[in-house]
Amino acid sequence: MSGRRFAPPRLGALAFLGVYVPNFKMTLLENSTSFFLESVSKAIQAESDSDKWKFAVLLLVQAIETSLKERLRRTNEILVYSNIDKPRNTVDLGLAIERLDKISKVNLKQSDVKSIKTASDLRNQIVHFEFDLSVEQVKSNFVSLVGFYTSFCRDHLDSDIVSLLPSKLHSELLSMDSYIEELENRASERMMAEGIPIAEVWECPACKKYTFVIYDGTDTCYLCGHAERIVECQKCQALEFEEDLKHVDFGDMKRWENYKAMCKECFSKLENENPYDEYY
Ligand SMILES: [Zn+2]
Ligand SMILES: [Zn+2]
Repeated sequence: MSGRRFAPPRLGALAFLGVYVPNFKMTLLENSTSFFLESVSKAIQAESDSDKWKFAVLLLVQAIETSLKERLRRTNEILVYSNIDKPRNTVDLGLAIERLDKISKVNLKQSDVKSIKTASDLRNQIVHFEFDLSVEQVKSNFVSLVGFYTSFCRDHLDSDIVSLLPSKLHSELLSMDSYIEELENRASERMMAEGIPIAEVWECPACKKYTFVIYDGTDTCYLCGHAERIVECQKCQALEFEEDLKHVDFGDMKRWENYKAMCKECFSKLENENPYDEYY
């Protein structure tokens, strides 16, 4: 036998690709924890090389997904698989939330469900090369997802993940957290100084903080600088982010195009009701 031996594939790496590895050497929780530690260290590296943010976010989303699977496994191992009759592929984030709620009776707060949705959106953006957040935006999302992840592990898996962080990573994470807090404070001071009514401040779609000012056509986030036009729904006149409006062609008798921009609510009403009801 020659000295060269094949190194066995790393289980962590395989699980990261969503491949089922029989006889897990690492438990799901250990896997999740190692994704998290790696994610934080990538985030620290991202301070000097912002290209690393994608990996930090992907690893964090993976850590979150794996922790949800671990909670499902504690109810019943079969629940980890998307099709329980053909246990091959494991659940995605959406199905995981549904099962946690309906079967495992885990009460997720509305804000937790939102965090999971954000995690899934960010992963999709990265995978489809649409990830173009600024450093402030990605940090803000990262910090709140870390918050969700660590409290989920504490509340539902009895695991104090933060204590596993080497002290250097921990202090870097805290400084990231206080940096975002600092930006948030500055944004609210500015809103106070400018006398912006609270009802004119929305959640920012980019950094996810309540710092998006719609007052007087400002249409800009005071934390991350994201700007996006707010327009009226042409049916109910409610205000909506321009990007969230749905465009529907009602046409007319001469078969000309006649697009109406509608808010999500009006659009779903239209989809569920007979559109001609009001004409007869
Ligand atoms: Zn923002
Ligand atoms: Zn509307």
